[in-house]
Amino acid sequence: MHALHTRSHSTRDIRRDNRSLVLTLLRRHTLMSRVELARQAGLTEAAISRITRELVDAGLIEEKPVFPDGRRGRPMVNLALAGNGLYALGVDIGANSQSLCLTNLTGETIIREDLDLLSFKTADAALKYCCKKALKMVQSAKVPPQRLVGVGVGIGIPGAADHLNRNLLQSPTLGWENLPVADIFEAALSVPARVEGRPRAILFAEHTSGVAQQKDNVLLIHLGLGIGVAVMIDGHVLRGSRNSAGQIGHLHVDPAGVECVCGQRGCLDTMASGYAIVSNLGMTVAHAPADTARIENVRLLKHAEKMAHAQDPATITIFRSAGQSLGKALTQLAPVFDPQLVILAGGLTQIPGYIEGVRDTLALPPHISWECSTMTLEHAAVCLALDTFVFGPRLDLARFA
Ligand SMILES: [Zn+2]
Repeated sequence: MHALHTRSHSTRDIRRDNRSLVLTLLRRHTLMSRVELARQAGLTEAAISRITRELVDAGLIEEKPVFPDGRRGRPMVNLALAGNGLYALGVDIGANSQSLCLTNLTGETIIREDLDLLSFKTADAALKYCCKKALKMVQSAKVPPQRLVGVGVGIGIPGAADHLNRNLLQSPTLGWENLPVADIFEAALSVPARVEGRPRAILFAEHTSGVAQQKDNVLLIHLGLGIGVAVMIDGHVLRGSRNSAGQIGHLHVDPAGVECVCGQRGCLDTMASGYAIVSNLGMTVAHAPADTARIENVRLLKHAEKMAHAQDPATITIFRSAGQSLGKALTQLAPVFDPQLVILAGGLTQIPGYIEGVRDTLALPPHISWECSTMTLEHAAVCLALDTFVFGPRLDLARFA
């Protein structure tokens, strides 16, 4: 009985898995013949014909005739994702910036917009405003409602989202907590939503369409006001019991260091993060309510970044010293996860001095390479939606018939 049950499920699962495989191959290679798809997917040409027919009928992929000998003779037929077959929304919400974008199936941006969500009195009002903006965006791009597939929401704090990828647990930087973010977006937009912390959102996006393609062991460090981490081992993102696995901000690196918000002295956050930079420049806000102080620190960090871009030597030295602290810590820490690649993401990587500082001290074994992410935050958010609702087994073709 049990075996039968498993078999009937697995046939449907296999069909879904094969469909995601075909879509993923077309995403990676842009243009492929059915023969090449069959070869790379390890499926028969008959199976590929059936799957691609279904996807062509649903408007998700299209045939592109190619004439090998100029315009003469029979064309070869290649397949490609249908750019305007589907659309997805990405929302990025952090204390330093908030933005919204609409892309098509190939991830091409149709519209993007910066938002100011922090001027709202409540989180609920801010998210409702964001939904209203998203609806307007979809309407102004004339996207047919059934062609909007989902919304991805990246939240600017590590471990902020719950295990279900639906709720925001706590975001001290935003001063928000226990918010049913996915419910709010789903009710307003009538499409499924997925919520994830920024570092993991960027890691997923780098893995499917960025520098970590075909790399299954990756450590990503997100450097903003605080330090966020996302870890992928053997293709699986580590989550942990409180969904905050891999967090290194409060790693004890200097017993004689300054006091951290957590009460310890010399945490990595007090030496290598944006908060450390603001504090070393003597600019931190004291004697203000916690939420106000955090928002104010974001503003101060932006000011420090401007000073570094204006080549202020003292400021650049402080950025460089923070980068050196990160480099030292990563030299110890990265090999623990045995990654192929370490990705540094977030605003600090763009500031003069910081990456030079990392380069001064980071010494990794030869099999571990590192680079800086160039993925935008709203693109990482939209990738969450595309990966989950289009390129994953949750794609519901019946919607597009
Ligand atoms: Zn700490």
